[in-house]
Amino acid sequence: MIVAFTDLDDTLFQTLRKLPPDMKGLTPATLGRDGQPHSFCTPAQSALLAHFAASGITVIPVTGRDPAAMARVTLPFTSWRVLDHGLTVVRPDGQVDPEYRLQVLKQLGPLQDALKDSTTAIAELAQALGCRLSRHTAHDTHFMTVLKHPDANAASLERVQAALEDHLTMRGDADLHVIANANNVSVLPRAPGKAEAVRYLREQHFSDATLTLALGDSLSDLAFMNACDLAITPPGGQVLRTVMAAKLPQR
Ligand SMILES: [Mg+2]
Repeated sequence: MIVAFTDLDDTLFQTLRKLPPDMKGLTPATLGRDGQPHSFCTPAQSALLAHFAASGITVIPVTGRDPAAMARVTLPFTSWRVLDHGLTVVRPDGQVDPEYRLQVLKQLGPLQDALKDSTTAIAELAQALGCRLSRHTAHDTHFMTVLKHPDANAASLERVQAALEDHLTMRGDADLHVIANANNVSVLPRAPGKAEAVRYLREQHFSDATLTLALGDSLSDLAFMNACDLAITPPGGQVLRTVMAAKLPQR
């Protein structure tokens, strides 16, 4: 059995804004809140998915999307799903996996104070810079605070990111980390996350897999990609941009 663990946004599909304006052969992959097609697969992404399907490869989404946002993905995923940045594992029948849920809640408990603290610490600056702050929950428990700028203002988002990172450093809080994407900055636990969910699925349900593929575009995908046999990442993504910009260490 071959299993492909795959991030969704900017890996299997993206919004039109991130595609060349003249691109042909796009396939709708998600709906927006207004019910209209929002993200699209390029012909290459569609070909990859068709190849996985034709080869009998089990495809398991590993996404930051919550259940509501996952419900707007129109691609036909039929196996297990990893949602909420790895805090929720959904079984093929659509039910939340109770064993993994218990494991996550046990780990989230001791992190509540640090999460609350970093949220309080950033609230004032975020508001002054015009960023919207929202607390995200999984299993009815706060696990992430997201700062979103309505116009994706890079300078504002960078200041929020730096302030959050300083706060974590100052507190000596190694259990939380900051991740950044196009229009948002989030603070969340290092673990559990996507890597723990993928390891859980590999151990509990896919121990007979002879090959595990990992697909992702972001630095926050690297830990789960590193927990598989082979990693695949799109050009122009955060992972490759970071690697391309890396300087060889000075000797
Ligand atoms: Mg992504």
